[in-house]
Amino acid sequence: MAAATKEDKLKLPILPDKIILKSPAFLKYILETSCYPREHEQLKQLREATIKKYERLSIMNVPVDEGLLISMLLKIMNAKKTLEIGVFTGYSLLTTALALPADGKIVAIDPDKEAYEVGLPFIRKAGVEHKIDFYESNAMLVLTDLVHNEKKEDIFDFAFVDADKNNYIKYHELLLKLVKVGGIIAYDNTLWFGAVAEPDDEEVQVPEVEFIRKYKPYVKELNSFLATDPRIELVLLSVGDGLTLCRRLY
Ligand code: SAH
Ligand code: CA
Repeated sequence: MAAATKEDKLKLPILPDKIILKSPAFLKYILETSCYPREHEQLKQLREATIKKYERLSIMNVPVDEGLLISMLLKIMNAKKTLEIGVFTGYSLLTTALALPADGKIVAIDPDKEAYEVGLPFIRKAGVEHKIDFYESNAMLVLTDLVHNEKKEDIFDFAFVDADKNNYIKYHELLLKLVKVGGIIAYDNTLWFGAVAEPDDEEVQVPEVEFIRKYKPYVKELNSFLATDPRIELVLLSVGDGLTLCRRLY
């Protein structure tokens, strides 16, 4: 399995901003007018602690506007049990934990426990740690075990996938069993810094950004695959770095 996360993370500080909006002033307006005033205090503190510890790597946290969208979506759906693949310091995880009811549960998976522990004090302060079952593991192992050994099906209302992009298509097959009919599977970074729409040979303009080049074919393959998958209803939102929502139909 090609997770290579530590190595990839080392390369991340040279990335451009992950947002799709190419006007910094426009983004600043959106964040300052509508997002920061609505951000939960512990999410703000987790975001700031992540910047302090990880600097440019902190761009891996979902941006505030995307967090607000995920929160509202979970509430509209009345989600109770969710799956989080790719936790990092837990911005989307804490967002989810805050949006679920008191008896809600999240199965959260990431081999990087150290990063999770950076966010954990804020999750505790927010009073939602009891909703989280953290697995320090590769998600493929946990999902495969749930499907093939524990024979679990239709147990999650929602899954947020924000990890190794080269495995999203493989996760999709398992998630279509684990997420209920009518439930949502959300894939993050599906616009991949805008690179999905750029001709391959133009990428030499940013030769140092190997990370983008490496995963771009996988993201494009995923987008094409999902677009014709009859088992789901689909919408690709240009929020953050692109968020694809799939609703399981059968
Ligand atoms: N959703 C997070 C950001 C996740 S960043 C937030 O909003 O804060 C991507 C994470 O995916 C990294 O922490 C990395 O360790 C994790 N990851 C990479 N490969 C993985 C795998 N195979 N299984 C689970 N997590 C993985
Ligand atoms: Ca992401």
